[in-house]
Amino acid sequence: PASVEFRNVSMRYGAVTAVDNVSFTVEAGKLVTLLGPSGCGKTTTLRMIAGLEIASDGQILIGGQDVTKLSAADRDVSMVFQSYALFPHMSVLENAAYGPTVKGLGKEKSREMALEKLALVGLKGFENRYPSELSGGQQQRVAVARALVLEPQVLLFDEPLSNLDAKLRRRVREEIRELQQDLNLTVAYVTHDQEEALAVSDKIIVMSNAKIAQQGAPRELYEEPANAFVADFIGDANLIDVTVTAVADGRATVAIGPASVSLPARGLPAGPARVAIRPESLLLTGQAGPGSLPGTVRKCAYLGNHLDLMVETQVGELFVVQYGHHPMLAAGTPVNLTLAGSGVTLIPP
Ligand code: ADP
Ligand code: MG
Repeated sequence: PASVEFRNVSMRYGAVTAVDNVSFTVEAGKLVTLLGPSGCGKTTTLRMIAGLEIASDGQILIGGQDVTKLSAADRDVSMVFQSYALFPHMSVLENAAYGPTVKGLGKEKSREMALEKLALVGLKGFENRYPSELSGGQQQRVAVARALVLEPQVLLFDEPLSNLDAKLRRRVREEIRELQQDLNLTVAYVTHDQEEALAVSDKIIVMSNAKIAQQGAPRELYEEPANAFVADFIGDANLIDVTVTAVADGRATVAIGPASVSLPARGLPAGPARVAIRPESLLLTGQAGPGSLPGTVRKCAYLGNHLDLMVETQVGELFVVQYGHHPMLAAGTPVNLTLAGSGVTLIPP
């Protein structure tokens, strides 16, 4: 497998900037996800890796080689499209053998290569069917076999689960991750689903409005979001306006309503800021204290393995999740909230 590197890459279509000065690396043998809402530039980024679009600006390297101006045919990259894009008039075997056939590797050799990849994705015995005779999940596997057949340096997936039902999605995403790890593939994977991204990725690149909002390991993005967009897009977050009263030795003293807490300053100066607090990082203690925030339970819902609570405080209504088997709290119950040691992050105002 080869690495992929973007250096200050932009893509413009007339007045529309689809991708704006983006830099990242997909290390060889890793799965990196491009995550973001519809229209943020994910597909355009994949198409630039494939060579289906030529970047307006910047540099693209694959395996350390500058491929910025190379067309798709001259890059060793395959793509699994959102729609699968199977040839309806070709059998499963012919679809999977398409790449080597077009490359002129001969009928027998192409067939052999296709059979091997079809077996790999669990489609032994389906060779003579046509796409219309397969389920959505099986069609997707044909698309994966077809993309793998020439053993590309880089494999791209554009929202590969969007045409599958919810139950199948979970299984197929695990299969893709296993295949990627077993074959040591370099994969760039596009999704708008944050849970899917957390589940399969070595690294997540969060995109918003054609730019990178943050990139990092799944745990890093969840526990230490760099800004409100990432905090809100990955998981749930309470976003609260706060005041940083002092900064010393990289730590900030932060006033959250009447509570005073110490948090990593992350380069922010004294003055107005915000904190992003995960719902499970708000702990219900009984006792009042300098680091606690008094509140009143407004809603409490039982969800089996956790309680969802809405707690009214001086800094607004906060969403609190209590995992485990806790007793219900009636509306009107006074509580004190304290902060857990993780999942509480200072972000710009
Ligand atoms: P995503 O895959 O994240 O939904 P896209 O990469 O498809 O987003 O699109 C990003 C932006 O670029 C959108 O505003 C889209 O309308 C625009 N765009 C994409 N392709 C073209 C094109 N060929 N011509 C003009 N605008 C385009
Ligand atoms: Mg897209």
